[in-house]
Order: sequence, then structure tokens, then C-alpha cells
Amino acid sequence: MDGPLTMKKTPTTSWQVISAIKGLVSSYRITLLHLFRKPITEEYPEVKRTLPARTRGKIILTRSPDGEERCVACYLCSGVCPVSCISMEAAERENGRRYAPWFRINFARCIFCGLCEEACPTLAIQLTPDFEFCGTNILQFVYEKEDLLVSHGGKNKDYDFYQHCGIGGNSKKGKHDNEDEPINIRSNMP
Ligand code: SF4
Ligand code: SF4
Repeated sequence: MDGPLTMKKTPTTSWQVISAIKGLVSSYRITLLHLFRKPITEEYPEVKRTLPARTRGKIILTRSPDGEERCVACYLCSGVCPVSCISMEAAERENGRRYAPWFRINFARCIFCGLCEEACPTLAIQLTPDFEFCGTNILQFVYEKEDLLVSHGGKNKDYDFYQHCGIGGNSKKGKHDNEDEPINIRSNMP
């Protein structure tokens, strides 16, 4: 008597043989078709594709239209970064404008998720389509502020945080874009 684990052999039918041959012929047909197709290989790096502007590659720190650094060292990018690869120090200039004396990104840890760009209130930190940086020394992927800071505004050249924020960096209160004059709170009293 057969045990519960005994497998019964089923005879191979001619239909199964035909089906196997059809599968083989079908896959060889695809291979043959590709053999005579014009190759579409792009000769990178001689031929480079234009990547979309929103491609998430190397990170830059941009400047506002007046040429000043946009970064106000608020730590939002650093706080939101899932791999903690952004660090900086905050300081304030005499005119009340905040900045980062040093700002560091460790690209060896960065996963190019773009969360830092999403979190930045001043549009300072931006990801670019530049993905061409590689090397064998891991320390060369630690970028300092001098390596990150560019001389332009990146994706939104006209935005000036200090013209919107209401902080007395560039103008007095009430003089920024879309900002009302300060209210005399005594005028609200009965
Ligand atoms: S892209 Fe993502 S991982 Fe890279 S620095 Fe920004 S938040 Fe961090
Ligand atoms: S880059 Fe943007 S989010 Fe990061 S510290 Fe500077 S202003 Fe804040």
C-alpha cells in the first residue's frame, strides 16, 4: 500500500511534448528578431541624454537674486534627512540675516530622496540632474559649503526669501512682498 508521501508518476503525453517545443520555438523567435534589430545602445559617456530638470542628483546651495546666500541655517533639511548626512552651524550677520558658517553634506550616505529640498523654506538646497561623481576614496564625497554653494538661484531664480519672510534682513516690517503694515494692537482694544 502506498504511503501518504508517495508520488505517482504520470506518463508524458504527446500534448505536453508539443507544448514544450512550442515554448522553445517562441523564445528562439524573439532572440532571432533581436539579432537583426538596429542596436539602440547609447554610447555613454560620449552621448549624454538630457535629463529632466527634476532629476535628483548632486545637491547645490543656491543664492537669492541679490547674490546673498539663501540658506538661513534653520536645520530643517538636516532634521528631515532620513540618513542624517547634512550638518551645519548657524550664525547671524550684523544685519540680522542668518547664515551657515559651515555646511556639510556626506554624499556617501545620501540616497537622493529629495526630502531636504522639499523641507527647505528658502529654496536654498536643491537637487540637480548632475549624477556624474564617483571615486574610490570615500572621504571625497564629503562636500563642504565651498563645494556646494553656487553663484545662481537654481530652479527658481527670482525667489528671495527675505522679501517674503517679514524678518528685518533687507527691509523694515511691512515693506516685504505680500506683507501688510504692522498693526497697532492698541487699536484693537475696546
Ligand atoms: S536627498 Fe535625502 S538623503 Fe540626500 S541629503 Fe537630501 S534628505 Fe538627505
Ligand atoms: S538649506 Fe534650507 S532647510 Fe537647510 S538649513 Fe538652509 S535654509 Fe534651512
